[in-house]
Amino acid sequence: MSSSSKKQKKQRNKAFYKYLDNDRIYSCSKCHTHLAKHEELISKAFQGRLGRAFLFNSIENVILGKNEDRTLITGVHTVKDISCVSCRSVIGWKYVYAYQEDQKYKENKYIVEKTMLSKENNWDEQY
Ligand SMILES: [Zn+2]
Repeated sequence: MSSSSKKQKKQRNKAFYKYLDNDRIYSCSKCHTHLAKHEELISKAFQGRLGRAFLFNSIENVILGKNEDRTLITGVHTVKDISCVSCRSVIGWKYVYAYQEDQKYKENKYIVEKTMLSKENNWDEQY
């Protein structure tokens, strides 16, 4: 009666890499994992921990860290660190919650350090 059929459920630990099919891709500067399409870029005028940082609508292929309250130039925000799924470099953070009304637009958006980004295939910006 014992159902001892030990099905070896091999857990698929393979990290899932989403390949972004686009001409203008931002990738991880260290391992070139695709991170975001240019269309997802909202602003380049942000300040990261390492200098200039970009604000994105969405980011692929990242691992989210734990919620953390952080005091930034624009006040206290709840953020999560984001790291590259492949090389595990911390590339920026995700805004989870903004305490100030005028900062709410950043909720669920992503900050990525400029130095952690590279332009895949060196595309040019055409604004
Ligand atoms: Zn990487």
